[in-house]
Amino acid sequence: MSAIDLYNTPSPNHAAKVADSIALLQRAAAEYPRLTQASSLGAEDMVVTHLTHLAGIASGIFVLDTGKLHAETLALVHQIEQRYTRSVEVYRPKNEAVVKFVRQNGEEAMYQSMDLRKACCDIRKMEPLARALTGKDGWITGLRREQSNARAEVADIVQETGSFGSRAKISPLVEWTWGDVWHFIATHQLNYNALHDQFYPSIGCAPCTRAISVGEDFRAGRWWWEDQSAKECGLHVQPATSSLLPVAENAAP
Ligand code: SF4
Repeated sequence: MSAIDLYNTPSPNHAAKVADSIALLQRAAAEYPRLTQASSLGAEDMVVTHLTHLAGIASGIFVLDTGKLHAETLALVHQIEQRYTRSVEVYRPKNEAVVKFVRQNGEEAMYQSMDLRKACCDIRKMEPLARALTGKDGWITGLRREQSNARAEVADIVQETGSFGSRAKISPLVEWTWGDVWHFIATHQLNYNALHDQFYPSIGCAPCTRAISVGEDFRAGRWWWEDQSAKECGLHVQPATSSLLPVAENAAP
């Protein structure tokens, strides 16, 4: 069975969610002209890329190629460029930092301790992310509240201030269910990561991602050897200081 066969179960108000997400992106683009999408190339981010296309906004799009991604994930970069006739910016870690880290700690350092895992994420994700966001006043993500307890309070637009500087973070899918995501993918015939058909709902680097079993949590396949309450790499744990939209326009309940 494909992921579409398994998960295509839209919410009753799916069409309204799509319209709200497009409207949110258009408002964000008007307020933040230097806008970019951070794409992990997962199912949600393929939806967000298509929503930006439907919204007609001129945002950029970038991918963090950690050097540890699956071939199935990287294949989507070319597919996005072909379908939307646009360039995907690919940011990679600094080679000297990777070489030094691997020489000191080995290729499988992430399994040795959480500190080493986070150090690997810092080198391969966080530093390239900081470069990708330089000069941007807003970034778009595919975060959904349903994804994990840590994301249950995510707002659709927040102002972040932290080590990456200050900018808006726009998450048009906060209200979407996993069924909404797959209904949209099916309806619009979007490309998606082939690993989703092999029980990988959440896909990151190859050494840190595994398939999940029936009944397991959505993110159980990410850093599965660690404390289950700490499944973030740092990209989405920046402090949020204030909503940029009036309360009535912010979907946070
Ligand atoms: S997810 Fe794993 S391989 Fe990827 S940067 Fe983090 S620790 Fe390294």
